[in-house]
Amino acid sequence: MCIQQLEQKQCQVANQYTRSVDRSGNTVAQQLISEVFEIIPQKWRGIGEISQSGLTLRRKYEAFDAQQRFDIVHHTTTESAECISGLVLQGVKKPHACPAFGQRCTPEHPLGAPMVSSEGACAAYYRYRQQPNTLSYAVSSK
Ligand code: SF4
Repeated sequence: MCIQQLEQKQCQVANQYTRSVDRSGNTVAQQLISEVFEIIPQKWRGIGEISQSGLTLRRKYEAFDAQQRFDIVHHTTTESAECISGLVLQGVKKPHACPAFGQRCTPEHPLGAPMVSSEGACAAYYRYRQQPNTLSYAVSSK
């Protein structure tokens, strides 16, 4: 479906699993989640706070809240000033547009989340830039 959209110069959300997923979703799971959690504004690494983007346990379930149970203090993480992971995550910039990419930021010494895990955009760009044959195959086989 992705390739068909690419060839037709389209970009839209499509449901490949229409035989088991309908537009209303899993209403049983939704009700359970709504029973246990409430929606809150959430801060996202590299992006900042987005209203109604997070979940927290409702008060009646606070006994199961690890932050309260183990007296965990809220902590803030500082990100490298040169890391543009927010723009990468939003698709505004490619990883190699980052001045730290492949130099001060590598999978061995990541400065931002997209370089930490192997499926992160920066880590993937870093990994496959090491294999020019793979890239040239992907481009030439289009
Ligand atoms: S290459 Fe590193 S520093 Fe640059 S955006 Fe990606 S994670 Fe951040």
